[in-house]
Amino acid sequence: MIVMKFGGSSLADAGRIVNMMEIVKGRIKRKPVLVLSAMGDTTDYLLESAGTALKKGFVSIEKIEELHLKTIEDLSLGVSLQKEIKNLFWELGSLLTGISLTKELTGRTRDYLVSFGERLSVRIAAAYFRSKKINARALDAWDAGFISDSAFGQAELRSESYIRIASYLRALTAEGVLPVITGFIAKDENGNITTLGRGGSDLSATVIAAALKAEEVQVWKDVDGILSADPRLVENARPVELVSYDEAAELAYFGAQVLHPQAMQPCIKTGIPVLVKNSFNPAASGTRIEPGPVKDTPLCRAITSKKNVTLVDIVSTRMLGQSGFLARVFAEFAKNGISIDMIATSEVSVSLTLDADRDLSTVCRELSGYAAVEVKTGKAIVTIIGDVCRSSEILHETFGICRKLKVQVQMISQGASKVNISFIVNDKEANSIVKELHRFFFSGEKKPPAKKTKAGKPVSAKRKT
Ligand code: ASP
Ligand code: MG
Repeated sequence: MIVMKFGGSSLADAGRIVNMMEIVKGRIKRKPVLVLSAMGDTTDYLLESAGTALKKGFVSIEKIEELHLKTIEDLSLGVSLQKEIKNLFWELGSLLTGISLTKELTGRTRDYLVSFGERLSVRIAAAYFRSKKINARALDAWDAGFISDSAFGQAELRSESYIRIASYLRALTAEGVLPVITGFIAKDENGNITTLGRGGSDLSATVIAAALKAEEVQVWKDVDGILSADPRLVENARPVELVSYDEAAELAYFGAQVLHPQAMQPCIKTGIPVLVKNSFNPAASGTRIEPGPVKDTPLCRAITSKKNVTLVDIVSTRMLGQSGFLARVFAEFAKNGISIDMIATSEVSVSLTLDADRDLSTVCRELSGYAAVEVKTGKAIVTIIGDVCRSSEILHETFGICRKLKVQVQMISQGASKVNISFIVNDKEANSIVKELHRFFFSGEKKPPAKKTKAGKPVSAKRKT
């Protein structure tokens, strides 16, 4: 049994859905279970429509209706599906009318609203499979056993989901049914619809795979797998064939737009491999993510950057030599629900990074009672995933490049997971560093380009003794 997840771009219109069916058909013997995102940019459109209802007071779902109705028409799907889809539009329209009248959009309502994207896509896809004589059934995640807490927008699945998913889907597949399940959404114990965070259908897929002890999860995207760098930045970024779970998780946390950061967890627990594939180029081998450590780790496997990061420097004013300083600092952040990405510490100070959209006023007020706090915005984390057993070599080359580019490294951390080295620079410096690091680590050129003298001759790095 395998789990196949298709993202929005792999389902963007009728043509893409036909293409998806071909991909699934080619793997039908492996007993796939499908997990789908919303079609194309539907989730964004839904959020836009909420903004319109809220600010302008009217309901606008034309873009969403047009996309789905045209797809149904292009796929020549029948009247009963049209009716079902129109009922969903009616429900969506009513919800937006409610928002426009109350001028209120709670987390709960927002989750209910964005759930329509996935609920629409699975119904259309399953109907299309049936029209091609494949016995598919559309399922809303809650019907397949997904139950979460009530943290709207970022809900966590309850552990009993695994048992419920396994028993429901095992029974269904035993009847020869191809389940087509909504990614991204669940319901809490009170029956409210919740979402697992943007991009959350990757997580839905890995949870199903773990529940069913599937042999593999395939995540179908619009890129040839995990790339060695962001292709918008680095022209010759190349697909990475094999990475370990740890490496993939670090890449996801530090900016690579490949997998939902939490999506690796269910696979890590169960040892199920994940294959990231390109639905626009199914022949490409993609990236295989496996339990580590993976053989033949190169010096550098991939480079990512995460921009718009805030750096907070906290220096103890009172607690010199006393225990409990770090515990107090972290407790302030925890109390305020602020998650910390990177840290570096010394005896009396700690530097840490956070996402820029966090409100730090309360934390800073509390901390200033016993520490000097400096908040620096506009920073970027550059992360190198590679062979950390050769970290001195990586650091040597990296600092050489930073020096050449006249970039000051403001903080550095070698991940405990032993796969990444991350450092902080100014936002505007990140692109050139990533490009230069990639050029160096991936072009086969194993020395940083030497500084030139005025006469154009390279300066020797070696000192004469
Ligand atoms: N449709 C949701 C989103 O765009 C979930 C997903 O695609 O994974 O975030
Ligand atoms: Mg999506």
